[in-house]
Amino acid sequence: MYISKSFIPILKDNPSEAKIKSHQLMLRVGMIKQSSAGIYSWLPLGFKVMKKIEKIVREEQDKIGAQEILMPTIQSSEIWKESGRYEDYGEEMLRIKDRQDREMLYGPTNEELVTDIFRSSIKSYKSLPQLLYHIQWKFRDEIRPRFGIMRCREFYMKDAYSFDVSDEEANFSYNKFFLSYLKTFKRLDLTAIPMAAETGPIGGSLSHEFIILAETGESKIFTDKRVFELNTDDAKLEKNSLLEMRKKYEQFYSVTDEKFKKDDFENNVSEKNRLITKGIEVGHIFYFGDKYSKPMGASVDLPGGKKDFVKMGSYGIGVSRLVGAIIEAKYDEKNEVMKWPISVAPYDIAIIPMINKNDNTALDKANKIYLEFEKNNIDAIVDDTDENFSSKIKKMNLIGAPYQIIIGKHTDGDLLEFKEVGKDTQKFKLQAIIKIIYEQKVKN
Ligand code: ATP
Ligand code: MG
Repeated sequence: MYISKSFIPILKDNPSEAKIKSHQLMLRVGMIKQSSAGIYSWLPLGFKVMKKIEKIVREEQDKIGAQEILMPTIQSSEIWKESGRYEDYGEEMLRIKDRQDREMLYGPTNEELVTDIFRSSIKSYKSLPQLLYHIQWKFRDEIRPRFGIMRCREFYMKDAYSFDVSDEEANFSYNKFFLSYLKTFKRLDLTAIPMAAETGPIGGSLSHEFIILAETGESKIFTDKRVFELNTDDAKLEKNSLLEMRKKYEQFYSVTDEKFKKDDFENNVSEKNRLITKGIEVGHIFYFGDKYSKPMGASVDLPGGKKDFVKMGSYGIGVSRLVGAIIEAKYDEKNEVMKWPISVAPYDIAIIPMINKNDNTALDKANKIYLEFEKNNIDAIVDDTDENFSSKIKKMNLIGAPYQIIIGKHTDGDLLEFKEVGKDTQKFKLQAIIKIIYEQKVKN
């Protein structure tokens, strides 16, 4: 992409309405545009990042055997009356009437709809487990939409649902998602901590929130620092191994303020390991047994000939919120430098030629490099404008490609000035640069 042809409406200054850094950067660099309170259009730069996050989320769902479907955004109130949530959900649900005067709604979540899909087709334990997911817009009429896309009304969510024959099997499904979430966030270069959580309006008995640390987060958290040393490297997609992995995480006290008990915290965590801070909820998983299958009559035949209600769980990831969460984690607001993880970066590398009037040498060189990157599937952005050099650098620092090439006075022959954002400039030949970037990309 060439800056002169791009739709990246960059603002000179920080927008005053933005209170947290993700909201500031997203407006500043033209990733989103508000269309009304809590409702946004996604512009090319923001949309690119979100699509890359979506792809990673999808791949990690597929890896645990979940099957992708797509349910509509608009739902009928009938199924919500069956589950009993039509009244309970309250004002966050956007209710609509169609021309036949039927009560419809814009889905805030999909437990009812997916249960209806399940019960119409699956009748036997032999077809279980079923893990279904979709990635779709949700609407919640939040009382106080704020912080840009972090707490908005229309947002993009991956929600998955599991159907099992027994509590034990359902726990296995739950643990698959537990693992898949940790892997997903790791690929986004985020450290997300699973925390025991309340189940809220989804209901049920077992629940974890996945929280990343950030001063601007809305959740207050209390955790044992040792949880940060854990990883999922030796977890296998098999019952005992997954159980062990979850136990490994659960041995350390980690809760949000809803579940916080001072005595438990102080008795379980030595003073030096205590961490009280704030975080952003990026995912939330629930096990709720037959909470929906019972009122909605979703049952299956069991081995002995009896029938029972299917045991369900649900699993959400805030795909659009993650764009903001990554910025909260990676943006150096003081120096106005963003560095996207290569796995989701809108561009892999920025090419910054110093262009002098009547001299096209630097731009010609930039074009050649651009074509070479294109051949190698490296997505580059070139600043081909005649702005001065320092404002070009400033702009690219906001856009946040993790690598930069500067073509200027010091470019001699084949050696290019190359830098990984946040590190020192080095001199490399083009082929070496391609290799470095390629290797980083395949790692993810
Ligand atoms: P929160 O506590 O932040 O209001 P929630 O518990 O109501 O979220 P869930 O029903 O658990 O949300 O939804 C799954 C995920 O969807 C959340 O973990 C979050 O990442 C995302 N999400 C929920 N509400 C919003 C929102 N208003 N704007 C953006 N993302 C959201
Ligand atoms: Mg939640």
